[in-house]
Amino acid sequence: MSTPSKRRPLFCGNWKLHGNIADSVELATQVRNGVATLRDTDVVVAPSFLAIESVARRLENGPVAVSAQDCYWEDKGAFTGEVSATQLRDAGCRYVIVGHSERRQLFGETDATVNLKARAALRAGLLPIICVGETLAERDAGETLARIGTQLDAAIRDISDDDLARSLIAYEPVWAIGTGRNATPAQAQEVHRFVRTRLGARSAAVAAATRILYGGSVKPDNIVALMAEEDVDGGLVGGASLVVDSFIKIAQAGQTAKGQPAKGSV
Ligand code: PEP
Repeated sequence: MSTPSKRRPLFCGNWKLHGNIADSVELATQVRNGVATLRDTDVVVAPSFLAIESVARRLENGPVAVSAQDCYWEDKGAFTGEVSATQLRDAGCRYVIVGHSERRQLFGETDATVNLKARAALRAGLLPIICVGETLAERDAGETLARIGTQLDAAIRDISDDDLARSLIAYEPVWAIGTGRNATPAQAQEVHRFVRTRLGARSAAVAAATRILYGGSVKPDNIVALMAEEDVDGGLVGGASLVVDSFIKIAQAGQTAKGQPAKGSV
């Protein structure tokens, strides 16, 4: 078991393309009620674009923050169909996920556009959750750390140390997302330590402050072992975040596993 970390645990539910506006507001309300007594932990939900404003209104002044699942890197202009980070901030977001593997694989996101989006998010006052992760082929070929290093270096280019310390990195092995197959705690820790060491090349303070989330089939029954690893600071949760009890249990168990005082019960 690791010693208690100074980094505050964070759990973000990525609702992907699920739920209409009413469903999303209802799920957000249940999450808010379920984590009302949880302390020393950040809880975030990421509804689809259309539901963001309604969810943000429902969660206003409460303990649960709102994230978007993506953003565009320009603030305004002739970019049909895009949504800017400033618009997301205006709608009530505090966070935005950038570079999720589904965006990289299905929508042509590149390391360069992930960097543009992360910088746009920070300019707008949002905290980016920057996703990195290797495919199964890359892992099998022994290329995991090289791939993560390339993605990370590109994503954080031209981001100041202060901004980087406020940003979050999510390690999400592509082979573990939505597959029911999570990385072992040791596999996650190896990559999280690698990421932190790489951040340390920029600044020891950044390495110490930046929260590194794990994502990939996180469930109530595997979060405790993952959070017991020194460099795992929380979770980016897909499928299990759509089931309110599961998501609340993940936040609660994760907080306790991290050595944070469990002042609340769920
Ligand atoms: C994700 O969407 O980022 C994710 C990790 O999904 P799941 O938890 O379903 O694997």
